[in-house]
Amino acid sequence: MLQEYDVIVVGGGHAGNEAAAAAANLGSSVLMITMNMNTIGQMSCNPAMGGIAKGQIIREIDAMGGYSGIVTDRSAIQFRMLNRSKGPAMWSPRTQNDRMLFAQEWRNMLEQTPNVDFWQDMVNGLIVENNAVLGVTTSMGQSIKSKTVILTNGTFLNGLIHLGEKQFGGGRAGESAAYGITEQLVELGFESGRMKTGTPPRIDGRSLDYTKMEEQPGDDKPERFSFTKTPLVQKQRPCHITYTNENVHDILRTGFDKSPMFNGRIQGLGPRYCPSIEDKIERFSDKDSHQLFVEPEGWETVEIYVNGFSTSLPEDIQMKALRQVPGFENCKMFRPGYAIEYDFFQPTQLDLTLQTKLIKNLYFAGQINGTTGYEEAACQGLMAGINAHKNANNQESLVLKRSEAYIGVLIDDLINKGTKEPYRMFTSRAEYRILLRQDNADARLTPLSHSIGLASEERMRTIDNKLGAIKATRKFCSKQSVAPEEINPYLESLDSSPLKQKLKLETVISRPRVNILDLANAFPPLQDHASTIEDDPEVILEQVEIQIKYEGYLNKEQEMADKLSRLEDVKISQDLPYEKLGGLSAEAKEKFKQLQPSSIGQASRISGINPSDISVLLVYLGR
Ligand SMILES: Cc1cc2nc3c(=O)[nH]c(=O)nc-3n(C[C@H](O)[C@H](O)[C@H](O)COP(=O)(O)OP(=O)(O)OC[C@H]3O[C@@H](n4cnc5c(N)ncnc54)[C@H](O)[C@@H]3O)c2cc1C
Repeated sequence: MLQEYDVIVVGGGHAGNEAAAAAANLGSSVLMITMNMNTIGQMSCNPAMGGIAKGQIIREIDAMGGYSGIVTDRSAIQFRMLNRSKGPAMWSPRTQNDRMLFAQEWRNMLEQTPNVDFWQDMVNGLIVENNAVLGVTTSMGQSIKSKTVILTNGTFLNGLIHLGEKQFGGGRAGESAAYGITEQLVELGFESGRMKTGTPPRIDGRSLDYTKMEEQPGDDKPERFSFTKTPLVQKQRPCHITYTNENVHDILRTGFDKSPMFNGRIQGLGPRYCPSIEDKIERFSDKDSHQLFVEPEGWETVEIYVNGFSTSLPEDIQMKALRQVPGFENCKMFRPGYAIEYDFFQPTQLDLTLQTKLIKNLYFAGQINGTTGYEEAACQGLMAGINAHKNANNQESLVLKRSEAYIGVLIDDLINKGTKEPYRMFTSRAEYRILLRQDNADARLTPLSHSIGLASEERMRTIDNKLGAIKATRKFCSKQSVAPEEINPYLESLDSSPLKQKLKLETVISRPRVNILDLANAFPPLQDHASTIEDDPEVILEQVEIQIKYEGYLNKEQEMADKLSRLEDVKISQDLPYEKLGGLSAEAKEKFKQLQPSSIGQASRISGINPSDISVLLVYLGR
């Protein structure tokens, strides 16, 4: 019944949505098949986007022309730039979002994207011939052909929900699990595993006493994720902070014998950095209190998300314990917390384009690859969408380097190291943190994305103008002199030593306590220059300040990145006879055969590989 497509995307979560949008915007005919059209873009857990390292990823997706940043901005109810007091490499944008609006915006964006068709159904199998995928089959009996298939099944594959001693099949509360795909993939030779995650109870905000909690407002000057001019959030809703106590912990402990976490019913490994409250009580038994963030679920709803209280204990114990939390004495529950176990596939079974090594034209993206988080899923979807399109159109694939993007770091980590527990991005995973800032994602990625036809002309014009303005301002700062009498009152107000003679403006900006925006107020020539900048003068000044203050670090990281890039350029053919290379360790032979690195750079990052193994490869390759 349905036509043949270039790309079929299975799933309408964060990964599936970005995959469909990217492939369609590049010109592929795309079919999104998802189990429930009403849950496209559903936030399964917390109504928030971004945060440390994750905010950087959303900015990168946006710079590439993906939609997550735009959808996030349009549905934001609060904006905060985390880590402002630290260096710019650590600044991380985060929003609270209106859960329903977020999903609605996603659906609108996709419906307005030409080339995306939709079909509500459950994919229960792949059509595979000669180790290549040719399409999918569905539970309604459809066989739909396509040149490529992207699986983004999230937490749905054989999903099993746990609530106290109760267990039932489901991909999320209220949604059925997906069956058939794992079994077929395992039969085809794939290795699958089990992971778990959990979510906290949702509470009726009308039953809470906020006077007993600390208010956490949004930033005075909210920003946006997207480099396009999405509207800034005008009014903001505050979050609140409260704490658990010994009473809460004692009540929770009474349910431990019924906890699927502790009585062995949950086999899968959970996210280390998002532990359940029962996990926290067990692991940090010396702590008599844990912080809880009380987060609104949207503009028009009274529903509250209790961040930090993820649990799969019986619902009556959840309720009893919560009522001991300050401000929650009379709380009413909308939905209990629960845990979910699901299948994932070791990502070492993929190549750097997210195509599987076993079955050609088949891609995996998102939680199915052992990651956790909306942002981690969305960026994989984007890259799988780009590469499926390129594959379907016989074009060269696109792989982002570790020095170009957190997205590159994430995919490289997954492919080379695999993961034993849900993989979450952290700034510490990136070796080039000063290069990979959230503020310069557009400069890093928009030209690249534009060159493959994804980032629009308008995005390209915007970044060209921005880079031009940064260059002109930088030049101004390197030429303009400042006399002591012009600037000393400002410097003295900062406890920064006064000038004794004229200096270049950039030397003053390089001082640690000097803030370029304050400096512009104190030194009219800089203000005059800023007023000639057409677009976002504050953003341009901030960029110049970062470039000047961190020049040494930036140059050093760039040098290291260039060095690594040279190793990346030394390609390894798939038929290299590792067995015959005498100097290789047994472990290196096994890992290289299994993971088939495509370059010396990639080979060097495989866990267990020593510099001596790399030397052997380099000698063999005549380097
Ligand atoms: C209970 C719970 C708690 C979580 N807690 C956290 C947390 O604390 N922190 C965190 O970072 N992340 C958490 N997550 C994970 C987060 O939701 C995911 O990382 C993210 O949603 C993954 O995006 P995805 O696109 O890979 O999959 P999902 O968002 O799960 O989307 C999967 C999509 O695929 C569709 N689908 C699945 N199988 C089929 C099929 N066979 N045919 C058709 N359609 C199909 C589904 O309908 C859905 O649209 C939690 C998830 C759940 C369910």
